[in-house]
This record gives sequence, C-alpha cells and structure tokens, in this order.
Amino acid sequence: MQIADRMADVPFSGIRKILESVNRLEQEGKEIIRLEIGRPDFDTPDHIKAAAVTALSEGKVHYTSNYGIPELRNAIAQKLAEENGLSYSPDKEVIVTAGANEAVFITMMGLLNPGDEVLILDPCWPAYYPCAHMAGAVPVSVPLSFDNGFVPRIEDIAARITAKTRMLVVNTPHNPTGTVYGADILKDLAQLAIDNDLYVLSDEIYERLIYDEVAHVSMGTFPGMRERTIIVNGMSKVFSMTGWRLGYVAANQSITDSLIRIHQNTMACATTFAQWGGVEALIGPQEETTKMIAEFKRRRDFMFGAMEKLPGVRAVKPGGAFYLFVNVENLGRSADEIATYLLEEAGVAVVPGSAFGKHGDGCLRVSYANSYEKLEIAAQRMSSALAKLLNQ
Ligand code: PLP
Repeated sequence: MQIADRMADVPFSGIRKILESVNRLEQEGKEIIRLEIGRPDFDTPDHIKAAAVTALSEGKVHYTSNYGIPELRNAIAQKLAEENGLSYSPDKEVIVTAGANEAVFITMMGLLNPGDEVLILDPCWPAYYPCAHMAGAVPVSVPLSFDNGFVPRIEDIAARITAKTRMLVVNTPHNPTGTVYGADILKDLAQLAIDNDLYVLSDEIYERLIYDEVAHVSMGTFPGMRERTIIVNGMSKVFSMTGWRLGYVAANQSITDSLIRIHQNTMACATTFAQWGGVEALIGPQEETTKMIAEFKRRRDFMFGAMEKLPGVRAVKPGGAFYLFVNVENLGRSADEIATYLLEEAGVAVVPGSAFGKHGDGCLRVSYANSYEKLEIAAQRMSSALAKLLNQ
C-alpha cells in the first residue's frame, strides 16, 4: 500500500536514534548520564498540578472553545502585554495549542502555499523542516556558523530570498545553540522581513531562560512587524510542563482566522484540565520558575567552563535555553562518531549536530538539563574519554 508522497521528506527524528542507543545501553545495565535531554529536569511546580487536579475534580473534562478557555487566553494576552509590550485580543488573536510544536505546524499549514519558501536558520530545532514539508512548502536553510557565535548574518539570509520566499523562522533563545539574539540583530531581521514582505514565525519558547544582561525582545514589537509576526510560545520549558502539551500562537486576526481552522479540524482544543494548569502557571506564584532559571544559570556557567577545557573542543558561551553547541571538528572524527564514542566509552549521551538540520555537522548539543552533580561527573568522564581518543 502506498503512503503519501509528502512523507518522503519527513524523516524519523535524529534525536530518537541516540535515545534508542541510550535505552539499549541502560537495559544492558550501563549507567548513562543523559545530556541529550531537551526538557527541564525539574518537576512541574505543585501549585500548577493542583490547579489541574481541581479542574478535573470539578468536572472540567469537556471540549473548550477551539481558541482555548477564556481565562487562559486572557492570561496569555496579559503576559504578552506586560512582558513583551504587545497587545493582542484574547478573543480572536490568541489560540491555545497542544504545545508550541502544534503552533508551528498550524502556522505553516495556515499561511504557506505549496512551493512557497521558508527561510530556516540552521542548525535549528528539527521540527521546522518537517512542518514546512507537510505544508508543501520548501524549507531553505541559512547556515549559522560557530565562528559568528551562531548569530545570523543578514547578508546570508538576503542572498537566499527569492520571489517565492514567504516566511522567515526566528528562534531566540535558540535551540540547539543557546544563542540569544540582541535587539540590534532582531531589528535588522525585522527590516529584512518588511522589505521582502515576509511573515516571521517567532519561536519564543525559551524566552525566560536567559542568563545574562541581554533582554528578550519579541519580533512583533518592531514597527511594521505586528501584522506579519506569528508569536509561538508555550508552557513546556519555562514551567517544566512538556508532557502537558500546552502552547499558544498570538498573531493578527487576519492570520489567526486561518490558523484556527487547522486547529479546529485537528486538535479541536488543548486538553481542558491542562489549560487550567496553564492559567495557574501564568498568573500564579513564579518562585519555582525563578529558582529553576537560577539553577540553569549556575549549570550553564559550570558546563561552559568545563566544555571549554575539554581537549579538542571549542565552545561559545550560550546566553539562554539549556544547551551548549560545542565544536568537535579538531578531534579528527565526525560529530556522529564522537557522540557514539562518548556514549559507549564515557557513558555520556549527547546529540550530534547532524540531528539539527543541514548545518549542525561538526558540533554536539550538550544539554545541562541534568543535576549539577551529574554534570560534574559527565564533564570528568568526557575529559578522560577525549584525552584517551587523542592519545590513540
Ligand atoms: N520550539 C523549540 C525551539 C523547541 O526547542 C521546542 C521543543 O524542544 C518546541 C518549540 C516545542 O515545544 P512544545 O513542547 O511546546 O511543543
């Protein structure tokens, strides 16, 4: 039996390959330190769980509005106004989705025609490519380089714009590199989008996970950008709620009018009692998140120092998210081989850059979503294993 042609360009996730090796080794009784993780290692704060439990016990178990419960849309609109300086109508310009992943999917499905080109700054969170393919669009990769600290160069993007270019994807803080784009580069990206009449999908899921003085600036705030920007955000990372599947889109009504019809006919709505947890996450106490961010900063500082000292490894200090994207080209083997070697020799799982698009080769994504103690052991083990490799 045949399957859809469009699936030819939709591979099984590269990160899963590492996960499968990790599972195999763990089943064999090997102790693996997992630095391949793409989610906070903290539990969801208790008060958020309690809000969902209360919702369940009060019988909040039925469909909600396709847009999401008004309480959550109001909380999102309030957050966008207070934190980002953006005004969106909670009735028509905010859609609660089943995670930011669905938000990316409905954005591409709702705005792109077959053959339209989408600019993707690469390496990147891998799902942008398949989402573009599933929409029939053509992803066009723009390489980000280690030497430029993974900050995009405007001329690299401009050189790839054609009459078919319809959308630019911007993700800051960035997965997998942890780079935070400053206001100056975002302003230039905004101008480029305006000059070329592009939509900007602004993936801000790591927005609060910033550890230095650089403030997060939302793309929608630049003059002329609100009507072309689709803000994608969610609860997964900042409240450690990845399994709750809660995200959202905020955009001009001319855009959400299209997106809602994809959401309506696929998800219908995000899980009802999870949405009540989402309200509590946004408007309830923020102490747990503040503590989590402080701990991530402590780990970032430690891991950056440790990775910089590894033999044959170069690192740029990431300003946000919870990843380092370290360059291993000087080790004389492919990053895929190094990842496999580190897993088998050191019992440390990391993801080779090839899992993050077309331009991640030569690098490894090292997540610090693991305890400080485990990070110390992992760094020690990586150091010994790489020294051994270089002496072979
Ligand atoms: N965007 C980026 C950049 C991510 O790294 C992720 C998850 O890893 C997502 C979106 C998806 O998040 P969610 O769990 O809300 O679907």
